[in-house]
Amino acid sequence: MGLMQEYDIVMGLEIHAELATKTKVFCSCKNEFGDEPNTNTCPVCTGMPGALPVLNKRAVELAMKAGLSFGSKISKYTVFERKNYFYPDLSKAYQISQLVYPLNLGGGIKLSSGKFIRINRIHLEEDAGKLTHISKAVGTFVDYNRGGTPLIEMVTEPDFSSADEVVEFLKRVREILVFEDIARCRMEQGGMRCDVNLSVKRKGQTEFGTRTEMKNLNSFKSVQRAIEYEAKRQIEALSSGEVIIQETRKWDDDKGKSSSMRTKEEAQDYRYFPDPDILPLKITDADISTIKSEMVMLPEDRRKMYVETFGLPAYDAEILTTTKYISDYYENCVKLYNNPKKISNWIMVDLLKIIKDQGQTLDEAEFPVSEQNLCAIIKMTEDKLIGKNLGLELLAKVIETGKEPMLLAKDMGMLVTISDEEIISLLKRLKSENEKVGIDYKEEPEKISGFIVGYVMKNTGGKANSLKVKSLIPDVFND
Ligand code: ADP
Ligand code: MG
Ligand code: ZN
Repeated sequence: MGLMQEYDIVMGLEIHAELATKTKVFCSCKNEFGDEPNTNTCPVCTGMPGALPVLNKRAVELAMKAGLSFGSKISKYTVFERKNYFYPDLSKAYQISQLVYPLNLGGGIKLSSGKFIRINRIHLEEDAGKLTHISKAVGTFVDYNRGGTPLIEMVTEPDFSSADEVVEFLKRVREILVFEDIARCRMEQGGMRCDVNLSVKRKGQTEFGTRTEMKNLNSFKSVQRAIEYEAKRQIEALSSGEVIIQETRKWDDDKGKSSSMRTKEEAQDYRYFPDPDILPLKITDADISTIKSEMVMLPEDRRKMYVETFGLPAYDAEILTTTKYISDYYENCVKLYNNPKKISNWIMVDLLKIIKDQGQTLDEAEFPVSEQNLCAIIKMTEDKLIGKNLGLELLAKVIETGKEPMLLAKDMGMLVTISDEEIISLLKRLKSENEKVGIDYKEEPEKISGFIVGYVMKNTGGKANSLKVKSLIPDVFND
């Protein structure tokens, strides 16, 4: 048996996500990524003496919504505390966070294997600014725009035993936060970050080993790689008789290695105490029901409905719930035209191809056709008014012009509901009813053909294909 197989890996996560509020959590500065450095700042979020924080209600509401989304219990009484430490990105020298009375307690997520991962707490706090190290000669720049951005921190129990479980959990967390408009979770912008606490123990051993904490992993790939590296490092250390020191480690994605940052600090090192500038918050049942009423159906429940009620394959259900936008679009279509499978096909195959050709990714896809127009086209093909290929042509034209599909299809001569036989018999009727038409046609066929087509259109309620009518005129009028 290999060395790795003799040990169990034990992991717990601390996940930070920036809330999608318009303004910061204790001041009215903009909460916006990518603006000119130090432009979204004020005395409060730069920690000037005497400046006082005012709690952003929306941040509390979004943090409660997160709690409700993950099955946490919302605390009726919650307290903000100062976590004291000095660092240049934190000019107040304390972070406003929560320790003893966090906003949300408990909850969890069931993984696809059926394993339940328990959440310990989800609390509300503020983000720090951002340091950019340029070089020894130039030094380090600090941008306080991010300082004071509302964050939720989710802490899980040490329930994970593989990197795959961790990544699946993170994907589910991100998906739910994005679906519920709680956080945008743009990981490449640091909008969602994860600390992995990891220890190993011999198989069968009950007590946990000493853990290390890897800070601020901000992609699924680096989470995966950092876990694999750290598990191997600890197992090799233990089996050669070394001890693991409890420490914070920094993952270097380029080198594919982690290194020690500092030994682990304890809660008491931060001298947490209730922030005297912010009153404890009391939350009522009415507050909780208001937030509940804002919540939409979660992606997992939507997938279940797509498979069980709409009869879609699991794969289609997965793709159609990539974002709330796509999922809402699909459901709107089904409401307009009750043919969930056909609609899914058109979106999965045809619309997504168009999106791809336009250079949009699935995550940010916005379809260039309204639900009404897409459904009208699908219905026309299902009613056999037009074939699938014509339907695709029509879709392209609708996207190009924004016009209504039925009108366009008529203009483009696509509707084929009237048979050739019917057209011919109408032409014959005209010829026998109105001798003059036949005479005029013999003299100047072009001039009279508009009138003949008009006759047929009038007598078919505009449903005949006008090009077709024109092409059939000589068959009747030339003999
Ligand atoms: P602290 O307050 O020191 O940060 P916590 O008890 O809050 O410690 O735990 C932090 C994270 O570490 C949690 O996600 C928890 O599940 C995880 N954790 C705790 N002990 C271990 C361990 N022995 N091995 C792996 N993870 C652990
Ligand atoms: Mg911690
Ligand atoms: Zn501010």
